Order: sequence, then C-alpha cells, then structure tokens
Amino acid sequence: MRVAIIGAGYAGMAAASELASRGIPVTVFEASRTLGGRARRIEVHGHRLDNGQHILVGAYAELLRLMRLVGADPDELLERRPLNLVFPGRMRLAAPRLPAPLHLAAALLTARGLSFGARLAAVRFMQSMKKAGFRLDFDIPFDELMARHGQHASVVRYLWQPLCVSALNTPPAEASAQVFLNVLRDSLAAAREASDLLLPRTDFSALFPEPAERFVQERGGEVLRGTAIRAVGQTADGFRLEGDASGRSYSHVIAAVAPYHLPRLAEALPRLLPVLEDVARLDHEPILTAYLGYPRPVRLPDRMVGIGGTAHFLFQYAEDVLAAVTSARGPHLGLPHEALAARIHAEVCGIVGKTPAPVWTQVIVEKRATFACRPGVRRPACETPLADFYLCGDYVASDYPATLEAAVRSGVACARLVS
Ligand SMILES: Cc1cc2nc3c(=O)[nH]c(=O)nc-3n(C[C@H](O)[C@H](O)[C@H](O)COP(=O)(O)OP(=O)(O)OC[C@H]3O[C@@H](n4cnc5c(N)ncnc54)[C@H](O)[C@@H]3O)c2cc1C
Repeated sequence: MRVAIIGAGYAGMAAASELASRGIPVTVFEASRTLGGRARRIEVHGHRLDNGQHILVGAYAELLRLMRLVGADPDELLERRPLNLVFPGRMRLAAPRLPAPLHLAAALLTARGLSFGARLAAVRFMQSMKKAGFRLDFDIPFDELMARHGQHASVVRYLWQPLCVSALNTPPAEASAQVFLNVLRDSLAAAREASDLLLPRTDFSALFPEPAERFVQERGGEVLRGTAIRAVGQTADGFRLEGDASGRSYSHVIAAVAPYHLPRLAEALPRLLPVLEDVARLDHEPILTAYLGYPRPVRLPDRMVGIGGTAHFLFQYAEDVLAAVTSARGPHLGLPHEALAARIHAEVCGIVGKTPAPVWTQVIVEKRATFACRPGVRRPACETPLADFYLCGDYVASDYPATLEAAVRSGVACARLVS
C-alpha cells in the first residue's frame, strides 16, 4: 500500500499525518515550494507574513489534536484569549472566566454599547437556538434568521454579523443560517474554552504544515515540494500520476487540492464526472488582507479590533505591523490598492489617534479564498464513485464553513477511509 496525496495545504497535511501515525507510507505532492496552501507564509519587505491573516478558535479540536500529534505545541504557537469582541467606542463584549453557559450569558448581558433590549433579545436567541438543537427545518439566509428572531440592528452589526461573515466568508444576505448555527453551537454555545480566540505566534506554514512534513518524513513518508501533478490516471495496479518523476503506482489517491484545481487533475477519470459537476457549481468569495508597516510601534487597544468599515477587523501582527482583514465581496474590491491602504490607515488613526503614514503596505486579495457558503450548497463527500480515490479540503461536505478546521477534519476522515 502506498498513498499519494496531492496538495500540502492543511487538509493534505492532516491526511498525511494521520496516515503516517498509522505507519502507512505516503507521498505528498505540492505544486508550491511553500507548504500551507491558502494558509501559508510569504516574505514581504523583510517580514514573514501570511498570505492572509488567519485566526483559530478553541473549537478547532481536530487541528489542535493534530498539532500535538506532529509535535507543534499549541500552547507555545498560539496565544489563547477568552472571547473578547471590541469595536472601539461602539461595542465591547467579553466572556468572563465562568463555566459554560454562564460565560456566554454574562458576556451578552454585560456587553457595552448595546441596549438592554438588544442584549436580552440576543440571550433569548441563543436560548431558543439551543432548545432547537441549533437545527433549522429549512436552511435560510443569515439575514432572515436575524429578522425572524427579532435581533436588534446593533447586535447584528457588532456581534452576529461579524461572526457570520468572518466564519462563512459570505455576505450576510446570502450566508447559510444553518452553517452559522453550527458554528455558534460548537463555539459560543459549547464549553467556555471553545469560544476562546487562538491568535498565532508564528506564520501558518510553521504552525502545522511544516511540523507535519517532518512528522511524515520521520515515518518513512515523502513530501515533494515544487511538484505539480498534472493528471491522475488509472492503471491495472492502481493510480499513476502525471508529473510524478518516480513513475510508481499508488494504491490510493487523496486529492487535497482546492475545488477549482480538481477538474484538471481528474479529467481522465470519467467516474468522477458527477462529483466534478457539483464542484463546478460552487461559487467562491474573496478575502482581502492589507498589511501596514509603520515607522514606529503602533498599539491597538487589543490584538484583534473590530472596525466594520473598509477593514472589518484590524490585528496587531507585530509591534510595527498591522493587518486589516475584509471578508467576502464588497465595494472595497473596486478600489486601487493605494487608496484602500490609505482608507485603512485613516481607520487606524480613528482608533489609535494621529499616526505617521505606513512606510510600506501590502494588499493581498485571495480571490477564491473560500467557497460561498449559501443555504443548500452541495458539497461533495470524501468518498467518490471511484474506489480508493478520495477528496479532502475545506469544501468537502461537513457541518463547517470553509475553515482550517473543516480542511483538517476532512483530511483525517479521508485517511481513516484508507484500508
Ligand atoms: C486570506 C484568507 C484568510 C482566511 N482566514 C481564515 C481564518 O481566519 N480561519 C480559518 O479557519 N480559515 C481561514 N481561511 C480559510 C482556510 O485558509 C482554508 O479553509 C484552508 O487553508 C483550506 O485548506 P485546504 O487544504 O482545503 O486547501 P488549500 O489550502 O487550497 O490546499 C491545496 C494545496 O494543493 C496544492 N495544489 C493544487 N493543485 C496541485 C497540483 N496539481 N499538484 C500538487 N499540488 C497542488 C496547492 O498549492 C495547495 O497547497 C482563510 C483563507 C484565506 C485565503
């Protein structure tokens, strides 16, 4: 048995780690020289940045387990903070260190900047969702869910909508209410630690994919960087990969590429046609990250601060580097990068006071950051109609939107199907 894994993003490296831990030999092929896919390190102006600012939450149980498995200590690599949502001068919500569900009730009831009626409606909404098991009979858009439950505009604007748009990366008028509720169920409504924010102390290649590579190599596996697979073909003894210099055949293939890279890989595999049709129907949403490098330290009031303007959130990336994130489609995408950076700098000044302009800026738009998570979106399963050919990635069917946790869960699920 030898398993080929195509793609060394979080999903592919999760599958590889799980298989390596069971002593199954794997070869991972990665087109890029850097591991991590849509969560990877880049070097800009002498800084180690990421292709986009990412955060984790305490509910990412599978990613945290895998990090421990491969020797990447989450306590060292991630800063754990109790949920603390701050929109300076407008809203502040902090979860006290109380056992669940008191931490959430207390956070909602003591939130500053929201009227008593808004806070009470938010508590009632959570109670009613809990009673319903966080299940809807029919999925609806997020905005409709808010209207049905009488959520005040302020609580939508500063709490539910930022959570929804950052988790689902889909505009609120289109986002799946059911997937939003799944996220609430496993984060805010679960154990207190599940809603903790886990902020990275390193880049996203070093956080998991690189330690996973070492783990795989130490167990006899290979990770071939800079090796793009052009197509997968079926032979009498398994699968051969076009682009694999070894010419060897593999008993199993796990395609761990983004959905838009799958059609080319699988074009010689007619049994995958129905899967490819589903994948072709997925739409994608962008994420914009703007890094602003300042001539001297700039201190945000918190490591993560809500803005709700051109930038949705600002992050303290380093003492003199801020990262601004804007999720999903929006008018900001029509602006030239210099104008965008200037607007975001003005938003920074609105928070920290007048500050000299950044000495460098880097705007990165990941155009197909995630699939658009709408009601009823059809996502393919790990198992395909072709025996021993599996799919993993953040778009594969699961409770979760396209996130690191969805990616690694699907990787582990695929690995467990290999026998
Ligand atoms: C800017 C941005 C911000 C985000 N923020 C968050 C966040 O805060 N929290 C969160 O949980 N999630 C976030 N996400 C989502 C998260 O990054 C993705 O869900 C996750 O990284 C997807 O992993 P994956 O392994 O499924 O796919 P990918 O990361 O796309 O991995 C696929 C890999 O396959 C490789 N590949 C493709 N074709 C081939 C080929 N033919 N041969 C060999 N290799 C190939 C690619 O190079 C890539 O490395 C964000 C995404 C972006 C883009």
